[in-house]
This record gives sequence, structure tokens and C-alpha cells, in this order.
Amino acid sequence: MPNELTQIIGNCAQVSSLGFAVINESGVLVCANPSFCEMFFITSPEAAAGCALAEHVSSRFYSINADLSKAFTCPAPDIIELRLERSSEPLTMHIAAGNDLRMLTVNRVSKPLVDKKLPNNAYQDPLTGLGNRMLLNDQIANWQPSGPESLSLAVIMIDLDRFKKINDTLGHGAGDTLLKLVAKRILSATRDNDTVIRMEGDEFVVLHTIGFQPIGAISVAKRIVELMSRSFLIEGQQTNIGASVGIAALNHGTDNIADLLKHADLALYAAKAAGRGIVKFFEPALAQRAMDRRNLEIDLSRALGLKEFVLMYQPQVNMADGTLQGFEALIRWHNPKRGLVSPADFIPLAEQTGEINAIGEWTLRTACKEAMSWDGNFSVAVNVSPIQFENESIVDIVRNALIATGLAPERLELEITEGVMMKDYETAQKHLWAIKKMGVGIAMDDFGTGYSSLSYLNSFPFSKIKIDQSFVRGESSPKSRALVQAIISLGASLKMTIIAEGVETKEQFDELAAGGCQSAQGYLISRPIATPAIAGFISDLKNKPR
Ligand code: C2E
Ligand code: MG
Ligand code: MG
Repeated sequence: MPNELTQIIGNCAQVSSLGFAVINESGVLVCANPSFCEMFFITSPEAAAGCALAEHVSSRFYSINADLSKAFTCPAPDIIELRLERSSEPLTMHIAAGNDLRMLTVNRVSKPLVDKKLPNNAYQDPLTGLGNRMLLNDQIANWQPSGPESLSLAVIMIDLDRFKKINDTLGHGAGDTLLKLVAKRILSATRDNDTVIRMEGDEFVVLHTIGFQPIGAISVAKRIVELMSRSFLIEGQQTNIGASVGIAALNHGTDNIADLLKHADLALYAAKAAGRGIVKFFEPALAQRAMDRRNLEIDLSRALGLKEFVLMYQPQVNMADGTLQGFEALIRWHNPKRGLVSPADFIPLAEQTGEINAIGEWTLRTACKEAMSWDGNFSVAVNVSPIQFENESIVDIVRNALIATGLAPERLELEITEGVMMKDYETAQKHLWAIKKMGVGIAMDDFGTGYSSLSYLNSFPFSKIKIDQSFVRGESSPKSRALVQAIISLGASLKMTIIAEGVETKEQFDELAAGGCQSAQGYLISRPIATPAIAGFISDLKNKPR
């Protein structure tokens, strides 16, 4: 068989709900796929090789129509029906005989889908016909253990990736059609004993009631992720979504049945944070991390009221003559319990909780007010999060900060990252042009680290580009040097000022200056300075001989 075909069959077997295995004449497994392992209570495909299949079968199954061991040596294809003790779910094992090896394909004899009827409408999701949250709660509450600990209850929580985008672009009718198709695919990945629930929106749950854990739930989850990664045809359009999955299983990291849903949700959150199309199994460290995050969230929400934020200012200089041009305001959080928290650790959280809007407004006002106290008309650059640009009031917030403090608009500059263009860029563009019209400067921060296209540079009102420190740090490598040079010439032709950030050494400074970069910021010139020390810094620089 060509290698490619073997690989395709191998890949299919990995996610198939059919069990596949190869055994030798003595009934010893050579290999098996995850579904086979799940059906016969083998911990993993790796553990399958070398196992005597008869042992796994005879301890929990009985053969209905043939003697299993005879079938292992039978010369011709055969079919055997097996039934798990205690369960109503029979398995059919097809045996294909070769010279020395036997290929086993095992199928669950499941009742047709229409049989998956629910007790009554109160337990049913009207759109998909699946069960609803009430049914889920009922089934969890009434679940009775009926075997070894490994044979336990698992909650498989599924969240669709990119569903909102489909709903927004193709309309709710298309969204509903997609949800129905998703429901069908999830059903096809499950067994008759499983209960499939639509929680709300694009969130589904599979309740795996007598699975051999953790492999049972994991193999169902992987099948679902694989099925969701295939295209859907919606109103004649090929549509791609995907799914993230979190799993929690009783006796496997979750001791209390009441925690199952919460733990599956935490695992789902971790799966989504790790990227798309990922399956995560709950582990206690996730609960600890969620608690830490919750506490951080609470402390952060109080920080503004408790006046725990301060701004520090990092100087920006003209490379040609070393004169001071202005400062970038950088926020710091002094928390009595946590000490000094870096913005890299709390700004992303503030962006998720929405707290960034209040923090951002405070930063703007404070930076404008403190800049008014400086001896000289130096500029002040303020970092603004892309989230703040989603808010209609951003233009008024900037205007009010200028009016309230009396700062001339030309002295203020907003630094934004390429993230702003990843969001609703038309709204961001509109707001940025309005701010630019006031006379405020707009700088593109961390240039070259995001995903945006160069064409945005033209459609957004940037007056400055900040070369990201990663390129400055790598200046000695030919690739970084070429990139820095390209950014400098791009800036020159678009009539934008170029500033390099993270300049730490004299060599970096000299090389950038020789390459035509106009301004610099970095530890070589100064680390960020606390407000009370700014006056001293300015007067020292004024008195320094050039
Ligand atoms: P950024 O805007 O790119 O700021 C530059 C960061 O590089 C600052 O870190 C600064 O202290 C650091 N830095 C400056 N010179 C050097 C150098 O020579 N070497 C090295 N290794 N680092 C240098 P910081 O203050 O920790 O801020 C990190 C990021 O947090 C900022 O990156 C900015 O994206 C964000 N941030 C800071 N303040 C605010 C704020 O008020 N609002 C928002 N939305 N974000 C902020
Ligand atoms: Mg910045
Ligand atoms: Mg930067």
C-alpha cells in the first residue's frame, strides 16, 4: 500500500468512532486505535501493543454468538457480537483474516438517532432537538456509579470557534442552520449511552455516562474536534469553524460530582487560551490558576479607587543632537500585597474585564496633568489599548483630558499597537482621524510584531513609527539590520518620524543613527523615571554640555 494511503488510514483510525486493531494468531494485540482502547478498557493505544485481547474481553464481556478465541485463529472473515456486562450496548466485531494477522473492526450497535428521544419538551433544546441544561443537571444529579472508579461520569464541554463571526456575517438564519448541523455531527461522534446537550449559544456538552476514563472522554472529544474542523456548507457557502473542548471526569481530578460542570468549564477556558481546536482535561492546577486570576481581578478593580497606580516617564531623545523631545508615560501598579506589578501582567487582564477603559482614562488625564508641570514643552506619549478604541467615547475622553489640564494637543501623542487594526478597524480608523484632527499625534507602537498589513499605515493617521525593541536588540544580525533599514525608509517615504525603542547600547544607538533613525528611547538614555525625579532629569540635561 502506498505510504500516503497508509498514513491517511492511520489518521482516520485515530479519530474514528469505530474501533480498529490488529492481532496476531495468539490473540495478542499488535496495535489499536483510541476507540478500540476505549471499548475494551485499555488505557491507551501505546499500552495496547502486547496485550492479550481475550483477557480484556473475557473480564467484562460475553460473546453472544461465537467463541472469541476460536475467531482469533479462524481462516476466513467472521463476525462476532459481544455484549458488555451490565450494559445494553452490544458491539459487533468484524474479523478479517490474513496469513498471520487478523484485522478487527469493532462497531457499536447503536440505536438509530431518532431513538435518542428525550422524556419531554421541557428537557429539549427547541432548535437542535438536543437535550437542554435542565436535562444535563437532572442526569448529573441522578447518576449512579455502576462499576470500577475508572468507569465514571465525564462532562465534555464544547465551544465553537468563530461562530460569532458566522452569525454576524451570514445572519442568524445561517447561524441556526449551522448549529443544527453541528448538533448532528456531535451526535455522530457519541455513543448511544451519551447525552448530548446544547447549553446556550454555541456551547454544547456531552455527558459520557459509562466511559472508561480518561481515554473514553478524550477520544470522543478528539473526534468532535476533528468533525468540527471539517467545512460546513451553509446556504451554498463553504464555512469553517472549529471547536475547543474542556473535559472533567469523576475520580480523575474531580472528586465531587457537583464540581464537574465548573471543572469542565475551567478546562474549556484553558483550551481556548491555549489556541483553537484544543482538548484540555481538567487538572487541579487549573482551579488554582482561576482562583489566582479571580483575586487579581478583584484587586485590580479596586486599584484605581485606592490610588495604587502611578505613571513613570521614559525620555525620548533626538539622535542627531541628543536633545530631549519628550517622555513616554508607562503605568505601574503598586499593590500592598503584591508589590510592584508590571503592566505586562495586568493590562491584558484589564482588557478582558473592561477595566482598561477606566484605567486608560485615568492614565490620559494624569499624563496630561503631569506634563503641564514640566519645565519645557516636551511631548508626552500615552499608550492606548485597542479596547479603548471600541468605545465611542474615546474621542471625548481625549478632548476632555486636554481641556481639563490645558495641555496643548500638539504635545500629546497616543501610542497604539497593531492590535487596533485587528479589531473593528473602520471604527478605530474613524476615532483616530477625529483625534488626529484635534492636533494630537498618533504613533504606531511595537511596529513589526503584529499581523497587520502595510496598507494600514496609509489609511491610519500615523505620524510616528516606533521600531520594536526586538529588532533593535537583534540589530547585529543581518536580518534585523535589513528589517530596521526597511522600516526607516518606509517611514521616510510616508513622511513619518521613526523612533527606536529599547536602545540599550552605544553600538545600537550609533548604528540606528547611521541608518537614518531620528529618535531613540531606551535604557542607554534612561530607564523610566518616577514623577518627582522628572524636574531633576530635565534640568540636568539642560545643563549638560553637548
Ligand atoms: P511599550 O509601550 O512598548 O513600552 C516599552 C516597554 O519597554 C516599557 O516596559 C519600558 O519600560 C521597556 N523598555 C524601555 N526601554 C527599554 C530598554 O532599553 N530595554 C528593555 N529591555 N526594555 C525597555 P513596561 O513599562 O513594562 O511596559 C510594557 C508594556 O505595557 C508597554 O510596552 C505597553 O504596551 C504597556 N503599557 C505600559 N503602560 C501602559 C498604559 O498606561 N496603558 C496601556 N494600555 N498599556 C501600557
Ligand atoms: Mg508604548
Ligand atoms: Mg513599544
